Amino acid sequence: MASHSNTKRSIAYIGLGSNLQQPVEQIERALLALDQLPNSYLLSYSSLYRSAPMGPQDQPPFINAVAKLTTQFTPLELLDQLQAIENQQGRIREQRWGARTLDLDLLLYDHTIMQTDRLTLPHYGIKDRDFVLKPLAEISPEMSLPDGSLIKDLLKHCPQYDLVTLKYDKNYHWHF
Ligand code: AMP
Repeated sequence: MASHSNTKRSIAYIGLGSNLQQPVEQIERALLALDQLPNSYLLSYSSLYRSAPMGPQDQPPFINAVAKLTTQFTPLELLDQLQAIENQQGRIREQRWGARTLDLDLLLYDHTIMQTDRLTLPHYGIKDRDFVLKPLAEISPEMSLPDGSLIKDLLKHCPQYDLVTLKYDKNYHWHF
């Protein structure tokens, strides 16, 4: 008789951002690290986007993307994994909203809503960031948040960060 694992698989969306130390390569390395996470499977990821910084403007533009995983980690276990990847990539972050080598946000975990000291789900910034909504809509056009709002509707009304979609050329390089 076939045996079945009872371990639940959840869908998680991860927001990636970098604006230091060759950001395109930082995002590519982070995608590779997500692909290699145990107990998880990288289902898809968006194009890379360039966006204007949110806070202090005296910092380079960001490169952003969103990845979609199935995972058997709990939300907090997954956050631990994401923070380990940030640290492996020598995360530097000097100030809130400031420049950083790699930022990984757990955007959504199934339709889970939670608020603890370490983790807020959905991520508090989703609705106000086109550099999150646009890549989310690219990989899951019909998706909605736990409160029922549709990503594509939110995108029509959210602040703009001068998004530019990078192109992926036949030599496997992203460029503007
Ligand atoms: P930041 O790097 O500025 O995005 O903030 C990191 C902090 O936000 C960490 O201490 C996390 O514990 C906390 N945090 C709360 N909710 C989330 C989330 N959904 N994804 C990632 N970090 C989160």
